[in-house]
Amino acid sequence: MNEKSLRVNSTVSDNGKEYGKTLTKDVLKGRIAAIDTDTCAAGDEDSFFVADMGEVYRQHLRWKMNLKRVKPHYAVKCNPDPEVLRLLAGLGTGFDCASKSEIEQVLNLGVDPSRIIYAQPCKTKSYVRFAFECGVKQMTFDNSDELYKIKRFFPDAELFLRILTDDSASLCRLSDKFGASLDTTLDLLTLAKDLELNVTGVSFHVGSGASDPQSFDKAVRDARIVFDQAADVGYNLKTLDVGGGFSGDLFESMADVLSKALDENFPTSVRIIGEPGRYYVASAFTLACNIIARRDFQDPATMETNYMLYLNDGVYGNFSSLIFDHQIASPRILSKRDRSNRSTEYSLWGPSCDGIDRVTETCTLHGVLDVGDWLYFEEMGAYTKCSTTKFNGFTDNHDVLYVSSEPGASALLNY
Ligand code: PLP
Repeated sequence: MNEKSLRVNSTVSDNGKEYGKTLTKDVLKGRIAAIDTDTCAAGDEDSFFVADMGEVYRQHLRWKMNLKRVKPHYAVKCNPDPEVLRLLAGLGTGFDCASKSEIEQVLNLGVDPSRIIYAQPCKTKSYVRFAFECGVKQMTFDNSDELYKIKRFFPDAELFLRILTDDSASLCRLSDKFGASLDTTLDLLTLAKDLELNVTGVSFHVGSGASDPQSFDKAVRDARIVFDQAADVGYNLKTLDVGGGFSGDLFESMADVLSKALDENFPTSVRIIGEPGRYYVASAFTLACNIIARRDFQDPATMETNYMLYLNDGVYGNFSSLIFDHQIASPRILSKRDRSNRSTEYSLWGPSCDGIDRVTETCTLHGVLDVGDWLYFEEMGAYTKCSTTKFNGFTDNHDVLYVSSEPGASALLNY
């Protein structure tokens, strides 16, 4: 899709988000209305998602409005949902892939290899050979061993030196694992030059779930230093990759800080790309879970009754983000038989036999909830479905029902 057709389709209505929520709720209710948990086949009541592709579309327009200089390369790892990828491919974004199968999935959509960055600084040798065979040239590195590996298997690759950032204000810190510190970057660039490798850019990531917009400012200024070091070594770097870490809530202030830092430090001739993941998909996915069991037990110490609800999804399923990603689950009632509005404190638990499998320690819900009732959770699109397991024999493949609350997304997806 070109810019012109995007503008034609970009009539996002003011109430698009609200409409998306209503649409999502209608579809959630429609699906559960068809399930009688007393008689349904085993697994028919499994948790499931409703995904509003209109929300992904709105996030894309919001990006284009606020970060004009930065071309997004969606981080597939965050949620490799085929419809999300299809929509973003149609909207013309690039893609950040971390593995052979992510590269394959994106190429199978007909995306040109030049729109992909293999953004994993420590790559599997055979995957580097695979990238070479597919013509996926852009890739990151942050250490000398990786340079020797690339020299052997893909000497013409276009390399981005990933630098360390201060990610202390992020939910998921990445800098313990990746990123070259500024006191090593000159040596790495010199080695790359000696090996006759093609370094074309710098990348960074301020940490996933970042909360301090200023971390972008510092990272951009550090990237400028590395651009200058590269020039001293004889490279003319063309691209800066500002990574991911964008949050839906803080997006405008992050975009503001980042845009200013870019304008102050990089001329418009430098191509700027980003690798947003969570930003694009978190709010688009809503998860419905069934209450499969409950237990009321009296704490002998306090004599208080604890109300425990057991769901058919937990931290080994779509709630792994509670552990890996430090997320907090916010349940809402989708359907209940009890008509009272009595507010009750519950703890919510997953279905496995593991004690760690707790969805929330305490939450207040209005009404008496029972086996067969349904809860739903919004903001479940990032780092959820992609990291489910089959632990205890539960499914790792939950249904997704797709809707679109934006005509622009509907036009691209045909629904
Ligand atoms: N790029 C890289 C290299 C990553 O490791 C990640 C997440 O871990 C992302 C992009 C996406 O980050 P986010 O979902 O915070 O935007």
